[in-house]
Amino acid sequence: MYYVSTRNKALRYTPAQAIAQGLSREGGLFVPQVIPRLPGSALNMLKDLSYQQRAVYVMGMYLEHFTSFELSRATAAAYGPAKFDTKAVAPVRKVDNGTYCLELWHGPTCAFKDMALQMLPHLLSLSLKKNAEKKTACILVATSGDTGKAALEGFKDVDQTKILVFYPKDGVSEIQQLQMATQEGENVSVSAVIGNFDDAQTGVKKLFSDADLRGELGERGYFLSSANSINWGRVLPQIVYYISAYCDLLRSEAIQPGEEVNICVPTGNFGNILAAFYAKQMGLPVHKLICASNSNNVLTDFIQTGVYDRNRPFHTTVSPSMDILISSNLERLLYMLSEEDDQLVSSYMDQLNREGRYEVSPAILKKIQKFFAAGYADEGATKAAIAAMKREHDYLIDTHTAVAFKVLEDYREETGDETKTIVASTASPFKFSDSVLDALGVKNLRSGTDLLDQLAEVSGVEAPAPLATLKDKTVRFTGYGEKEQMKEVVREFLK
Ligand SMILES: *Cc1c(COP(=O)(O)O)cnc(C)c1O
Repeated sequence: MYYVSTRNKALRYTPAQAIAQGLSREGGLFVPQVIPRLPGSALNMLKDLSYQQRAVYVMGMYLEHFTSFELSRATAAAYGPAKFDTKAVAPVRKVDNGTYCLELWHGPTCAFKDMALQMLPHLLSLSLKKNAEKKTACILVATSGDTGKAALEGFKDVDQTKILVFYPKDGVSEIQQLQMATQEGENVSVSAVIGNFDDAQTGVKKLFSDADLRGELGERGYFLSSANSINWGRVLPQIVYYISAYCDLLRSEAIQPGEEVNICVPTGNFGNILAAFYAKQMGLPVHKLICASNSNNVLTDFIQTGVYDRNRPFHTTVSPSMDILISSNLERLLYMLSEEDDQLVSSYMDQLNREGRYEVSPAILKKIQKFFAAGYADEGATKAAIAAMKREHDYLIDTHTAVAFKVLEDYREETGDETKTIVASTASPFKFSDSVLDALGVKNLRSGTDLLDQLAEVSGVEAPAPLATLKDKTVRFTGYGEKEQMKEVVREFLK
């Protein structure tokens, strides 16, 4: 199976090329030329397998030239007990008879990005071998918080790679910042950028399209690669857990074979929910995908009207990993729903670049609304959802997950749709302790890592080990600068 660019489908790439390159030269995203279908018996077979085995099966469908042996080794390393604190890897917790919470934060950085970023380095290193690549991959990452740490953890001390992370200086939580500043590893660096996430992301995109920089680094034995959610190697491991969650529900007989479920996802860059869309296209029985946003509700408007318009105020919210106005992965959806019209996709992305706005055709809008529902939760509603979940179900959830639960509640009220629903839970509540404590009505918040103890005391839940041990780590990275200086930071790092 080959991959093509969303902006030029004439160019074909092997899976290994697509993963190693990350982003197509003309700015497009790599997509599989055809979406593989799950055979009729697959779900019944997968339901009795481990998470790692499910991952080998599902990823193998997309990765021609990768052997089962290679993928088995990779999944054992990525999702093994040294990395995840539960054997289930991505356990499903029942909230009530129709609502199931897919916990995606049992990995080393306590957020769902681990699900993909523990896997990507293995996929990349296998890809480099298959491509007979001699140069070292330098991973550049723009992060709104969770990606950065998860990428650093995933790539730390992986052969033939270096990683440099940029994050918005005032756009991440104190704990997120500490997680990155204390990162260990010989091949890593971290730098803050003055501005918001879009500034950092735009800056990184510019570096990728800078031919001079590419040439200069090439001579020094480096090439730039991406671990942002635009890399296909990020999307692919995320498809696995939706299929896995469905299998878990089958196994526990919460659903019958063939029964449709809804999937509700707190969304920023559109990567996580896009993976759910791929799972559906593969044949997973899914009724609606519910796209949940915070006050940066550009996607809510888009799904409801067909107009994508980023010309709006940017809000800094209690769910910072969703504070995004350009949802890059949407491009892949547009490609699929436009019947692979690469010219049309290019023109939308062009308009987005020039005017910050585009409007899709009525035919595309109709398809979007067939597959997706959308809503958003403001700050007050998000906090109220955390308090309600604790009170009614004795279940502690983080701010991003709370957005999803609130949007699901609204969706059910508006539509009367009673389809059983899987809600993606994207971070441990301890990662956003201050906001969670505030939502629970706690006054006199402590600061820094003391917040973890405070939340543990208030909730009766233990803080995850990777966060609890943060306070003993040494701060290594304190640098920051203007976005115009990012190129210099790269040069310095790869000296
Ligand atoms: C990244 C992130 C999201 C948003 O995921 P996308 O794939 O960008 O839509 C939601 N919640 C948390 C905790 C995240 O880290």
